[in-house]
Amino acid sequence: MDVQIIASSSKGNCYALRCDDIVLLLEAGVPIARLRKKLTAGLSRCVACLVTHEHNDHAGYAKQYMEAGIPVCASLGTCSAIGVGRPITKSHRWSYRCHDLRMQDWKVSIFSVRHDAADPLGFLIDAPDGTRVVFAIDSFLLPYKFPGVNVWMLECNYDLALLESNIAAGEVDDAQAKRILQSHMSVDHVASFLQAQDLSKTRAVYLLHGSDRNLNKQAAVEKIRGVVGVPVYMEGL
Ligand SMILES: [Zn+2]
Ligand SMILES: [Zn+2]
Repeated sequence: MDVQIIASSSKGNCYALRCDDIVLLLEAGVPIARLRKKLTAGLSRCVACLVTHEHNDHAGYAKQYMEAGIPVCASLGTCSAIGVGRPITKSHRWSYRCHDLRMQDWKVSIFSVRHDAADPLGFLIDAPDGTRVVFAIDSFLLPYKFPGVNVWMLECNYDLALLESNIAAGEVDDAQAKRILQSHMSVDHVASFLQAQDLSKTRAVYLLHGSDRNLNKQAAVEKIRGVVGVPVYMEGL
């Protein structure tokens, strides 16, 4: 299984997991025309698009994807908020291993995340070749342990010290700062989250949704590499 990052920022998110020439998309935050241009496998190979929550940078083009024949799957809260999509039902608690969504040979389990959205989700994905992926974006807290994960795709939005200096310099106002702190993951959050996981099967980490203003991406990659000891990737480096 390989990962293609189509876009990864607060301007738009879309990721493609490809295995045996079948693609599972994550997030519908870029126009379908741009996806068509960038996706190496071709749109006809997309089996579904999983969407975490209703914000435009994640779900803004869900309707276009549906119209192009790609089923968009999301929580009931997200589907209601965006007005399209196939709801994934779940209990409103930690539901890993409780509710499975099977799409051809892809197996997806869902978990709740904390974010200022209707019913935001993260995904634990088992690809047909056995690769296990955790995808968690736009969340300020992930109180879970995931076993046997090979590839982590985690939001790494800001560095607290840099955010604080941007607040002091007047580049980030109080309302923005409050929202970032209560709805996004910092590099320190990612480091402590990963430190608490069993990393024995981990072979790669993708850091997502980094802020150009509030994160030194190179320093973040180096910090997380120090924790996991495997390759760490981030868009824009
Ligand atoms: Zn976002
Ligand atoms: Zn969001």
